[in-house]
Amino acid sequence: MLIDGPSELIFDYALPEGVSALPGCRVRVPLRNKTATGTILDIVADTKVGFELKPITSLIDPEPLITENLIHLAQWMSNYYGTPLEQIMRSLLPGAVRQETHSAKTRQVAEISNMPDEEELEKLSRRAARQHSILLLLKASGPLPVSELGGSSVRASVKSLQEAGHICITTEKVRRDPDAGEEFLESTPHELNEGQRRVCKAICDSIDSSITQDSGDTSTHPSTAPKPILLHGVTGSGKTEVYLQSAQHCLDQNRSVLVLLPEIALTPQTVQHFKSRFSALQDKVAVLHSHLSQGERFDEWHRIRKGEAKIVVGARSAIFAPLPDPGLIIVDEEHENTYKQENPPKYQGRDLAVVRAHLEGCPVVLGSATPSLESFQNAQSGKYNLLRLTERADGQSLPLIRIVDMRMEAKKQKGRPAILSERLRMDMEKKLEEGQQVILFLNRRGFARSLQCPSCGHVCECQHCAVPLTYHRTEERLICHLCGYQSVVPQACPKCHDRSILLQGYGTQKVEEVLKKVFPTARLARLDADTARKKNALRNTLRDFRARKIDILLGTQMIAKGLDFPNVTLAGILNADLSLHAPDFRAGERTFQLLTQVAGRSGRGEMEGEVIIQTFTPHSPSVQFARHHDYEGFADQEFEFRRQFGFPPFSHSALITSKCSHERLAEFTLQNLHQRLSRNLPANIELGVPNPAPTPRAHGLFRFQLLIRSASPRILSRHVQEVLASTSLPEEVSLVFDMDAYDFG
Ligand code: ADP
Ligand code: ZN
Repeated sequence: MLIDGPSELIFDYALPEGVSALPGCRVRVPLRNKTATGTILDIVADTKVGFELKPITSLIDPEPLITENLIHLAQWMSNYYGTPLEQIMRSLLPGAVRQETHSAKTRQVAEISNMPDEEELEKLSRRAARQHSILLLLKASGPLPVSELGGSSVRASVKSLQEAGHICITTEKVRRDPDAGEEFLESTPHELNEGQRRVCKAICDSIDSSITQDSGDTSTHPSTAPKPILLHGVTGSGKTEVYLQSAQHCLDQNRSVLVLLPEIALTPQTVQHFKSRFSALQDKVAVLHSHLSQGERFDEWHRIRKGEAKIVVGARSAIFAPLPDPGLIIVDEEHENTYKQENPPKYQGRDLAVVRAHLEGCPVVLGSATPSLESFQNAQSGKYNLLRLTERADGQSLPLIRIVDMRMEAKKQKGRPAILSERLRMDMEKKLEEGQQVILFLNRRGFARSLQCPSCGHVCECQHCAVPLTYHRTEERLICHLCGYQSVVPQACPKCHDRSILLQGYGTQKVEEVLKKVFPTARLARLDADTARKKNALRNTLRDFRARKIDILLGTQMIAKGLDFPNVTLAGILNADLSLHAPDFRAGERTFQLLTQVAGRSGRGEMEGEVIIQTFTPHSPSVQFARHHDYEGFADQEFEFRRQFGFPPFSHSALITSKCSHERLAEFTLQNLHQRLSRNLPANIELGVPNPAPTPRAHGLFRFQLLIRSASPRILSRHVQEVLASTSLPEEVSLVFDMDAYDFG
């Protein structure tokens, strides 16, 4: 039994005779003269404790709210991420479900049980006109909710009719449907092309073989779980159609399907595809996302738990959807960082999908045009099966990518280059004249800045880690955030001795101003974190763009994701260097992904697409391989760098961050911890040194961080947990352990 509450309490209780319960059931139990609530983790015939157990007080729900496999998943997470089980259970079981204040919504429905004959009706119309008209209404329309019979004014009449035996009233559950009122037209399946057919068959075979192996036994045997599948399909190769048809096959075998998307708000099209394709099974599709009301969430949860919803589409946390017997798990755009939960408990949704599929004994499909290097490495080592789609589904070629060297632009402009290069401006003009649409992309994120020379493109890097050094204004220093190496700020470029070395940076707003001047008649919309804050802004803007009411769409990361607009023939990336020179060993990978994904937005219709990348470092591998649509070439050279410096996927790296309003205390605490960690350090762990975070101060707290790497995540996690458990921390300091960290900010 796991007791709810901040302290991790796991106790044994007795199950009274005649009470049956299963793991996952919520119960009330006596605890120190009070009653507490909790979740049953396991039921055993015999415990080893040497005293008489107290019995549970009562069951809150007769049926378990989560499945046994989800309890196993939670236990796995607790070990791997070094997080208390109770905290994990809290994100597993949403408040809307675990709190007893939420319940199913019901309504009363009236129905005729015994219609009076003509004579009696006649009498009734004179004596009680209201009762008479209610009867006629029910006769004409069939059963109706009592609330629709005329409100409180008819309550007495309804009661009389019920007492006279003319009508009967039943209580019925009402589903709070998040998409009520929306209509989804059924879509017909595309005829698969050859590549899609091959991939789809491989997935369906895997589904079939996992079901045969299951032999009706629901407690799965992990050893027989099929290998995860990595689906590497270029942008526009029709992965969605493969998902849809594999999902259909899974439903035909009477198994359910779980689909994870990077972010529901940003991928309305994919949700739409699933809803439309399975619109005949409308209420068999459940959608889980953060904008559901508590009531909607409660209802969706119970529909899933009872097996009424056969397809669950959701963001990261939908990995905890309590589907009783998933036959297929799909993770679309598996490389996306949004699968990483950055609030505690920190977890990687895509990795959990792989673990859950293993526990359930079903296949998992990780799909992307730019797979994460972690997944690709697993495919190369044979842990995953690799499936490929190398061509666009509609037979179109991938867009032509041109690189604009911003160093040359800087020379033309004598110092500061313009935001729009001549090439980009001219091509935009042409496309707009032809009535086609343009997407402009600016990746502007974070506060950490690297120094770059506008004349030769040189970026100051760490000698030990080969990641860019970050400029710290207060100390006037350049710092490496992975190893702590520091250097002075150069007065001129170390390579070409130009004196105009500069901090990268301008935002989407600035670009918007420039665009308005250069293209005064074009219809322009901006999508970034600021503009998307308004309710429905995102959805409305995308709808207007689709309807061609907007000519130029300018935005941040959020417009790089799977959008499919056939009339877009030019995608421009304003400054590829912004993401390339972030102080993070994944910067190159992220840039490659971004460039490829943005490029993938262009030329998806009849017309050929074009892409322009503006950069100060045109020869960087991320830019060059993206230009040639060469994912594997990129992966090969990036693997070399990662291997050489011992970064993932050749190690697991964890970050420990200390935060405190006193700078010295934050630093000292981490130094102290570092010392303790270095004692009895297991052989295969590499311990970094504490240093200030790239964002050294946020929300009034000073931040220091420490990087730890190991080939074995379990040994790493266990060592950190053991040391943390024996270390008492100053109250003012908070420590965060982030296993498989993605955010080094
Ligand atoms: P991806 O997700 O791989 O980037 P999409 O699933 O968005 O690609 O598919 C790209 C386009 O190709 C969509 O407009 C889709 O309707 C279309 N499409 C998919 N499969 C086929 C097919 N077999 N024949 C024709 N068009 C297809
Ligand atoms: Zn370094």
